[in-house]
Amino acid sequence: MYLTRTIGRWQLELHQRAIHLTRTPKADPNCGACNGQGGHGWTTASGDPDWEDCHCLDQLHTWRIPLWRRPEHAYADEPF
Ligand SMILES: [Zn+2]
Repeated sequence: MYLTRTIGRWQLELHQRAIHLTRTPKADPNCGACNGQGGHGWTTASGDPDWEDCHCLDQLHTWRIPLWRRPEHAYADEPF
């Protein structure tokens, strides 16, 4: 069970021990390469339409942000 929040193009998942931050798979509207289209269509040498995704779509990532570190005593019982 976790809480999900969407803030702009970011999706936040609040888990018990971490926050998962995901950038939604939308083209960057400020991208100069595709003007926010997410890529561009073109025609192959054989006349077939094709589509090339813009590099800004590759920026979909999920970051995991731990809310706290493992307590030090968790290592106390480990033998050396
Ligand atoms: Zn782009």
